Amino acid sequence: MQGKNTGYVMSAQESLKQIPIREAHAPGATWLHVARRSVQVFTLVLLVLIPASGLFRIDPSSGILMLDHQVWFSDIFIIMGFWIFIASLLIMMYSLVGSVFCGWMCPQNTASEWANMMTEKYLGRRANMMDVSGIKMQVASRRKSWLNYVILGFSLLLASMFYALIPVFYFYPPELIWSFITFQYDPALANGLHWIYMVCVFIMLMDIGVMRHLICKYMCIYRVWQHSFKTRDTLHISYDKTRSDHCKSCHYCVDSCFLDIDPRQPEVFDSCVNCGACVVACDELHSKSKKLDGPGLLTLKLGDEWQGKYRGMLGSFFSRARAATFATVAGAIMVVYGVASYEPASFSVYRSDSNQADQIHDYRINLAYKINQAEHMHIRVEGIDPSLFSLQTQDVQFQSAGRQDVVLRFSDQLAEGLYRFRVIVTADGGWTRDFQAVHFVRKQIPAKS
Ligand code: SF4
Ligand code: SF4
Repeated sequence: MQGKNTGYVMSAQESLKQIPIREAHAPGATWLHVARRSVQVFTLVLLVLIPASGLFRIDPSSGILMLDHQVWFSDIFIIMGFWIFIASLLIMMYSLVGSVFCGWMCPQNTASEWANMMTEKYLGRRANMMDVSGIKMQVASRRKSWLNYVILGFSLLLASMFYALIPVFYFYPPELIWSFITFQYDPALANGLHWIYMVCVFIMLMDIGVMRHLICKYMCIYRVWQHSFKTRDTLHISYDKTRSDHCKSCHYCVDSCFLDIDPRQPEVFDSCVNCGACVVACDELHSKSKKLDGPGLLTLKLGDEWQGKYRGMLGSFFSRARAATFATVAGAIMVVYGVASYEPASFSVYRSDSNQADQIHDYRINLAYKINQAEHMHIRVEGIDPSLFSLQTQDVQFQSAGRQDVVLRFSDQLAEGLYRFRVIVTADGGWTRDFQAVHFVRKQIPAKS
């Protein structure tokens, strides 16, 4: 009985095998392209939001500003920790996913791809702006109209103006940027900023309008730097050789690659940036073709397929990135410690430059407040009789981050000797520090008659 059943099942399976199966098409194309475009747009938005929100900005007069807090070189744990954290995270990213930054995030590639797309739309597929092979730009005869040239040129100019504005956000808050773009005078804006901006717009126009991916191919050192962390396990393009007959008269994936790589011959150390454009191209081709079965022949894969050793992804990743992982944790700890021990203010006491008959009477108390919000500070001097000195003021008001000087003057009635004194500054917000100093009064030598 059992034998009969088995025979029946076997024959059903045989029959099923005869039925041609069309696998679900386009597994990557449906999401990979949308995901990449979303990441590219998100990166551009982030590049503007980071300075505009005050998360990170460079103040020409005081240095780095983070969330309206000045970060000085003396805040070494924040500065060093932050860079160690970011650098080690990037190194882990390079060794895990290779030069993915170029394909998915780099504003240069985003602008170049967008410019290519616009050029194709208004001038046709063969309208390459610049080609080192010497092939001349061929504008499709149907698209040869002045209107198309004007629309394309105007679009490229607008994009260049936007790109050139991004660095300005890193130096000025949004309200000053508004004054800048509406041509309103503001003394806080640097002289000649409009001229500097126009030069930047021109450079960006040359880049987006003409150079485009030539920068990626021949000039970008950052791509080479990322490439140096690539290993056999790094994310790469994998090609299904078993179905290579699908490629007989097709070149679609090679045409879609802006780096002119043939993804059908992936190499461990090729210059692929894992943008996935070729994967999408092949998947789309298969989804539209009635002759080609199954999904596309190209996929993005992690792991060493060249030596036939597929390791566990996380195990492989951490074995390569052990030192970088340690550095990331160390950097994060440094940043946390730096933030916890952040000093919102500082002060020092200097001898004033003004001497009176070779005798120093005046000291300058230099107060620095590092946060862009109002604060009130109080100064007092201890260790010396109050009748023997005077303070220019005991209360200092800050409307925002900045520096103020207060003069401390000792009486010229002080007898010869050393006077130890302590200057104590207390902020309403709770911060307090003291500074110890010694005032020396030398014996007055009567002038010879
Ligand atoms: S797009 Fe796909 S089918 Fe066409 S050549 Fe490339 S891998 Fe082969
Ligand atoms: S080979 Fe494919 S994934 Fe690599 S850069 Fe070219 S198009 Fe992008």
